[in-house]
Order: sequence, then structure tokens, then C-alpha cells
Amino acid sequence: MKNWIFAALVSAMAAFATAATPWQQVKEPVAGTAQAIGEFSNGCIIGAQALPLEHSGYQVMRPQQLRYFGHPDLLAFIDRLTTKTASNGLGTVMIGDMGMPAGGRFATGHASHQSGLDVDVWLQLPGGRWSDSQLKNPKAIDLVAGNGQAVVESLWSPDVAQLIKLAAQDKDVARIFVNAAIKQKLCDTAGIDRTWLRKVRPWFGHRAHMHVRLRCPSSSFECEEQAAIPAGDGCGAELASWLEAPKKLPNAKPKDPVIPEPPASCKALLASHFKAK
Ligand SMILES: [Zn+2]
Repeated sequence: MKNWIFAALVSAMAAFATAATPWQQVKEPVAGTAQAIGEFSNGCIIGAQALPLEHSGYQVMRPQQLRYFGHPDLLAFIDRLTTKTASNGLGTVMIGDMGMPAGGRFATGHASHQSGLDVDVWLQLPGGRWSDSQLKNPKAIDLVAGNGQAVVESLWSPDVAQLIKLAAQDKDVARIFVNAAIKQKLCDTAGIDRTWLRKVRPWFGHRAHMHVRLRCPSSSFECEEQAAIPAGDGCGAELASWLEAPKKLPNAKPKDPVIPEPPASCKALLASHFKAK
């Protein structure tokens, strides 16, 4: 990479550090064979595709934010999931953030969703369709009680548990993050078929949506997988530790760590984008 391009890039990143990131300036996917690059929390994507906004099984929320891009595997997962929810008579699947056209870091809201393999699916299944204005400004349903210890029974629905189970059973899904109280409810109601619970991981927040993360596509050679999930259904001591000690249970994430430098391939991708402009 030419030094002046990198210098311009660094100054652009510094200028955007608090309000925006250079990735938000990329309005179209980078052409090429699909490649998820780097880590889920520090990466980018070549060859992302836009999730079609018109679909009988789902609706895309906040389309104005241009966060409905992902690896073709992610689009295929959403298609499989919504085929199953439809055949199980569940309502409309509400799709939240995926990634930006070239992936990369958001200014606010997420550390991950950077490599085109993450999607937020809201934990509500409306029977009807939302209007464009509802989609632009959607209303989340907080399923977790104020003390963080349990779900709100009057808001909880077995359909939501079914939605999470269908997603967890998908062959390409590596992990699903939900609030610990939601995981506890799933543990309590799963019955004897419990293998899918392993992928459902307790995490901060995630009171109104689940975050679904796919495994690295085999053809994405620069995609970095996370460590394997521990064995078992995850309903024992680890989950209890999330629910037992309030001081360990902030509903806000811990302070953001220092932002790491993106992988070289992602820096090169950004540099060529800004050079072409
Ligand atoms: Zn997410």
C-alpha cells in the first residue's frame, strides 16, 4: 500500500473515530468472490450480498441504516430459517442488524457484525406485517425482568423458544447470544431434546433479540473462528454464575477496549475504495 494512501486512511479513521468509521462511507459491497475476512469483531467482507427487502417470511428493520448485507451463507441461513418458521406456523421473522456493505466497524451499537456472518433476529414474531414507518422505527420488546434474573412470563412465548431452537439447529450456526435469563428459560423448558442448547450462549444485553453467528465459510481463508464452545448444554454452573452475582451482571457491556488495527486485507480494501473515489 502506498504510504500516502495509508496516511490519508489513518487520518480519515481518526476523524471518524468518535462519530463514524470509514466503513460507513462504503455504500456498496466490494465486488469479488465472497470472502469473510478477519474476526467477527475486527474484520470486513468482500462480495457481500444485500438481503432482499421483500420476503414473505421476514421483514428487515431500519433499512435506512444499510446494515442488511452479509456473506451469501448468511443470506442462505436466513432463507432456511424463515422457511422453517413459516412451515411451523410462526409469525414474521424480524431481521435487525446484519453488516454494512463491506463489513467493518460500526460507530455505535456493535463491536462485532464486521465480517458478514452475524445477524440480529428480534425475539418477537408478529402475526401481521409492519408498515414502512414501523420498520424504520421498530419497537423492541424487553423480555427480561428488571432484576435480570428471569424472563417476563407475560411477554414470553413458546414461539420465541421455537425460533431460537430452529436457528440453533441450523448446520451453519456456530453460536447464538441471548441474555442469561433467556437462556435459563430455554434450559427450563427444553425437555429431553437439549443438544441445540449448547450453541445458545449467555451474554450481556440481548434482552429483545438474539445474535446469530455463523461458522467461518470453508472458502474464506482469512476468516478467524472463535474458540470452541464448551461441551454440554450450558445450563449448569456457568449459567448460574451469570445469574447469581449481580456485580458480574451489568446489562451494559464493559468499557470498550482499545480498537485494534484491522487485518491487512481490510486496510487494503478500504484504501483502494478511498483511492477510487
Ligand atoms: Zn448482534
